[in-house]
Amino acid sequence: MEKTTVIGAGLAGSEAAWQLAQRGIPVKLMEMRPESRSPAHHTDFFAELVCSNSLGGDTETTPGGILKRELRKLGSLIMDCADGASVPAGKALAVDRDRFACTVTERIKDHPLIEVVAEEVKAIPDGPVIMATGPLTAEPLALELAKITGQSSLFFYDAAAPLVLTDTIDMSIAYRKDRYSEEEGGDYINCPMTEEQYIAFYEALMSAERAPRHDFERKIPYFESCMPVEALAERGLHTLRFGPLKPVGLEHPVTDKRFFAVVQLRQDNSEGTVYNMVGFQTNLRWGEQERVFRLIPGLEKVEFVRKGVMHRNIYVNAPEVLDRSLKVKGRENLRLAGQITGVEGYVESVAMGLVASLAFAAELSGRPLPKWPRETALGSLLYRLGDDTVKKFQPTNVNLGIFPKLNVKIKEKPERCRAVSEIADKAMEAYLLEDHWIVSDLTG
Ligand code: FAD
Repeated sequence: MEKTTVIGAGLAGSEAAWQLAQRGIPVKLMEMRPESRSPAHHTDFFAELVCSNSLGGDTETTPGGILKRELRKLGSLIMDCADGASVPAGKALAVDRDRFACTVTERIKDHPLIEVVAEEVKAIPDGPVIMATGPLTAEPLALELAKITGQSSLFFYDAAAPLVLTDTIDMSIAYRKDRYSEEEGGDYINCPMTEEQYIAFYEALMSAERAPRHDFERKIPYFESCMPVEALAERGLHTLRFGPLKPVGLEHPVTDKRFFAVVQLRQDNSEGTVYNMVGFQTNLRWGEQERVFRLIPGLEKVEFVRKGVMHRNIYVNAPEVLDRSLKVKGRENLRLAGQITGVEGYVESVAMGLVASLAFAAELSGRPLPKWPRETALGSLLYRLGDDTVKKFQPTNVNLGIFPKLNVKIKEKPERCRAVSEIADKAMEAYLLEDHWIVSDLTG
């Protein structure tokens, strides 16, 4: 069987290499670390999570939960490792990032059909290739992709939130509670603010010095769901209170007091020694982050494990560049996978690794390409990537808007999502019964 090259051992590339190898297809997995590293990667582990340790909602009343269920049914390596490294996070799936990435790395390196090559790829190799080099693809290969796709490669910005040491949070001010929960304790640590404290924090945030952006970078838009906290604050004094600092459902567990705003922190490693400032991705200068974020009650003496950062992000204009199996139009042997295809998010990137690899696996074994039902989360993401009626293509995450419309009107969002989830699950189950090959080779 012809060897397939997978470029990039990130979330999508690791999943893709594993799925191919599990179907008997030999893989050459090329990863540039440790030789060189993007500014967001800090380790040499495969599938490193570059920012939050949360993989998002994991119930059937969230679109992310529907996608995760499908990936589990399809034998996803990444979901398996994530489940094995999970840490408490309410109804979301969060992981101990090192344990998670370390397990992925071991399982890939131990696979007899995967050859790992530590090398930066600068040109697309011959033979079947899956390019899964992510939003921070090294420059020479990014330029090569731009040449192949013409004007269709786009750039935008993403940001990462700071991490802090848990035992430096002042728990005489902060308290544990999950939103709307009646139970004592909770997975989240909450830092409450009075109106006066909020305004002082807001003013400091607005006047804080930011890291410089080059001229050409200023024209690049932020992605809405990963907007720096200071950019969100620019929209108005109260915007943060209706977003990441929303106080509703976070009344004090002892006094029942409702605060003006609440900053939430989520556990980031299994020991619980590091917490992540939820929604605080930022482009402030590092010294300014210390000054401004220590104005938050409970964080006055907090120690930062990692400061927030901002990075370039690359994706293609999917409707123009890719077919429904993620093949680059006009290039028989090249598929893209992961965030570069125009999806946004960890789990969405994994999903696109799975789709690209199963398409190649089918092609190389002389079988028909998988036809993911439109009702499923996988099918809906692919539908969105192929939707050429969209005027200005923007990366998409899994959300209710990408699924087919329901025949009935359901007002409440969780119930609407549950209805979508049932339809998606039936469609996926029916498809898997029809196409046994998709899951039949998953041993090991
Ligand atoms: P990656 O996981 O980045 O993997 C790409 C791999 O390719 C890397 O290992 C890299 O070293 C390698 N590589 C790159 N170029 C080459 C080359 N030329 N040759 C060989 N190897 C190469 N999503 C979320 O859901 N939550 C978040 O909190 C979040 N935060 C983000 C923060 C930042 C700063 C960025 C940039 C993105 C963030 N995302 C987040 C978006 C996205 O989910 C992640 O970037 C995700 O890791 C994408 O998966 P991927 O497999 O496509 O790419």
